Amino acid sequence: MDIVIIAIGDELLSGRTVDTNSAWLSANLDSMGIRTLERLTVADEIPAIIEALRRVKSRVKVCIITGGLGPTNDDLTVDALAKFAERKLVASKESLDIVLEKYRRRGLIVPVGGVPREALLPEGATPLDNAVGVAPGILMELDDFTIIALPGVPHEMKDIFERSVSGHLANFERGARAKVESIFTTGIPESRLFGVLEPVIDSFPDAKIAFYPSFYGVEIRLTGEVADARFRKFREAVREKASPWCYSTNEGSLPAIIGEILSLRGLNLSVAESCTGGLIASRLVDVPGASRWFEGGVVAYSNDAKIELLGVERSVIEDYGAVSGIVAGQMARGAAERFHTKFALSTTGIAGPSGGTPEKPVGLVFYALHSPEGTKVRSNIIAGPREAHRHRTSQAVLTMLWLELDGKYDNHQWADGSREFKL
Ligand code: ATP
Ligand code: MG
Repeated sequence: MDIVIIAIGDELLSGRTVDTNSAWLSANLDSMGIRTLERLTVADEIPAIIEALRRVKSRVKVCIITGGLGPTNDDLTVDALAKFAERKLVASKESLDIVLEKYRRRGLIVPVGGVPREALLPEGATPLDNAVGVAPGILMELDDFTIIALPGVPHEMKDIFERSVSGHLANFERGARAKVESIFTTGIPESRLFGVLEPVIDSFPDAKIAFYPSFYGVEIRLTGEVADARFRKFREAVREKASPWCYSTNEGSLPAIIGEILSLRGLNLSVAESCTGGLIASRLVDVPGASRWFEGGVVAYSNDAKIELLGVERSVIEDYGAVSGIVAGQMARGAAERFHTKFALSTTGIAGPSGGTPEKPVGLVFYALHSPEGTKVRSNIIAGPREAHRHRTSQAVLTMLWLELDGKYDNHQWADGSREFKL
């Protein structure tokens, strides 16, 4: 099934607000096998909204609108829907009950007449309860065109979509449902991954596969029907080939996977970061419940910080430089000792654009994993701007930890260009 998304709001057109709602919706629809055919952005004006709906109705059977459901006079979506469908605006008992209950709970003042604006819907439309805001979403089914209107506030839009809309859309899709499956990989660039998978892709020429690279790895997406035995075979073959680098088939966050393993085994982690400047810690605390397994970290940027906070030996820095394998190793060990953790990660590198030398070029980085087994250090030269360097380095050292926890480190087929540094 195809769908069109209409984002409503002058603030989107002026560039003051970035339309993240449409992207979020498309991504969620995509994973349900629903294609976004087109996205429109429309002003807070009734004629513009109606004109957009007319155009869209001739192309698809379902359209999702976001924005303009609130109570202020610039919120015109509901009026436009009523005009478009040639229906009256009424407050049904259902929508009035929903909205008055929110007014009561929030201590809002009900307008004279007893009908808040948010309770008014085009006649026959269904309100979709909004658990985190006041204005309900709207489901309006016309003869062969369904309009789903959601609030503009992103967390309200997501709440209603997840609780009411996705199930409804799945009904439309009964029967032929293409499913999108993700395989998340780390530690292998897109071109090499493609090389590894090429024989499989060649032997399933009609299969749909796409590669989405980011700083953190490559997501492989397969589209097909699970009921189809050939698709299942293709999926198995891809998973098998990608398995050395695949950390998950449903969770895109490597820190989340690591956290799950650590907390299941009652293990803990700390970090000592130089060139990543706290990014690893930040990525770890993005995982809900990280306090169960993440003790803390040190951003040790200067030599003195590395010496005083992590116990790196001054003579080692003088002899080998702060960007060296031996310093990375001492940083990780220092963090594990100070935070009393089984595992610790460290990074030290030259993010550029200046600071490189012939022996230590810009992009050079050393990173280490300290574990009960000892300390392992790797190095790489990571191209790209500072931002890329920080992100890629954080992923490289997290990948080391994931491989170690998974028992795959020693026999891993390294494909990221990194080298082991022998302490
Ligand atoms: P409210 O009841 O708050 O008025 P609403 O449904 O009327 O909600 P809008 O007035 O269109 O929604 O937008 C409310 C806020 O939500 C905007 O100020 C903007 O910050 C955010 N917003 C609106 N549309 C989008 C969008 N497409 N992407 C991201 N944020 C959005
Ligand atoms: Mg509004």
